[in-house]
Amino acid sequence: MHEFKYKGNYLCCEDIKVLDLTKQFGTPLYVYSYHTLIDHFVKLKIAFQEVEPLICYSVKANSTLAILKALVDKGAGLDIVSGGELSRAMKVGCPAEKIVYASVGKTDREIEEAIRRRILFFNVESLPELENINRIARGLNKIVNVAIRINPDVEPKTHKFITTGKLTNKFGIDFNSAYKIFLIRNKFSHLNICGLHIHIGSQITESTPYVAAITKMAKFIAKLKRRGIDLEYLNIGGGLGIIYDKETPQTAQKFAQNALPILKKTKLKIILEPGRFIAGNAGILVTKVLYIKSTPKKKFVIVDAGMNDLLRPALYDAYHQILPARTDNRAPITEKVDIVGPICESADFFAKDRRLSCVEEGDYLAIMGAGAYGFSMSSNYNSRRRAEEVLVIKDKVFVIRKRETHTNLTRNEIIPSFLLGL
Ligand code: PLP
Repeated sequence: MHEFKYKGNYLCCEDIKVLDLTKQFGTPLYVYSYHTLIDHFVKLKIAFQEVEPLICYSVKANSTLAILKALVDKGAGLDIVSGGELSRAMKVGCPAEKIVYASVGKTDREIEEAIRRRILFFNVESLPELENINRIARGLNKIVNVAIRINPDVEPKTHKFITTGKLTNKFGIDFNSAYKIFLIRNKFSHLNICGLHIHIGSQITESTPYVAAITKMAKFIAKLKRRGIDLEYLNIGGGLGIIYDKETPQTAQKFAQNALPILKKTKLKIILEPGRFIAGNAGILVTKVLYIKSTPKKKFVIVDAGMNDLLRPALYDAYHQILPARTDNRAPITEKVDIVGPICESADFFAKDRRLSCVEEGDYLAIMGAGAYGFSMSSNYNSRRRAEEVLVIKDKVFVIRKRETHTNLTRNEIIPSFLLGL
């Protein structure tokens, strides 16, 4: 469910016509619905309320400060993966004890900063990383909380680029190696190994892989307990899928129904790290049709947004529903079209062989489900300025990121003096 609906002929975000937003802010434009964002967070919270989880929204999905602040104000913690994300978390006032930090490649500087900030814990992804955090903690004379990220070797049935819990993936530590780490835990004088973590992939629509992974975790926790090793946290990651096309993802409630009996048995504090589930359907990318180009083989609808604005189709061949900002009684296009951007790459597309109704040059289209891994993956490729972002709450709209200027793009560049003839 989301707050992007037609009212008459006009696609609206909450109570505002998308077309009016294009007039006010131009395109490409990211439009977010505040209520959709918060509703998804609350849905998950309610579904899991029996275990009172800490829900750490996954910053990478959409890291714009206003989005983070909206969620943190509702009680969310944050799941971060870099020093940059830590800085964002601090900027929006996220309590440090609600921040968890994953990533296979944390640098010394990033680790040190997170320790100084006293985050809840690191999700540690390898033995060398564990040794390194211990070394840095010793240097700072601090005892640092860590959770071991387990690679449970389950098939999440999603795109191979967003599968993270198979032994062929770079993430986490296999059960045997993790067990050995626990047996030598006293070697890590400055670490408190207090939890376990998994994240098996993203856009997972079935509960079976989760249940399989959580069941394996519960068995492992029991095995550790038998060795006298008690833990405090179980972080079950993110990954909950949303509807982009014809998926029928499990609801938060269904997911909780399947997971809760196992989670409750562990008696650990439960952490979730959802990203897409919260932000995905809360945002759209609005773009203008520049040209309609017919070739002997194809018809192209060329729009002013590109793969630099929304990379998912190019990166994962991802499907996004595309809707007109205004519908009217014009005849639908009967042939199939490719909807493409202006960038010099054939991967610069939003839809292939798609039947679109009522599209003419100058029209505006909404690329749906663009709230997660949309703006946060955007770039300046082709020296394009990144899009403006606005947040709608009922009949009010707020700019939450201004469109970049050309000056912004060259801000950090230096032409050496020899090239300037100085
Ligand atoms: N946690 C970790 C460790 C991740 O790597 C990711 C995504 O890559 C997430 C959480 C969020 O995943 P999703 O947006 O699918 O919920």
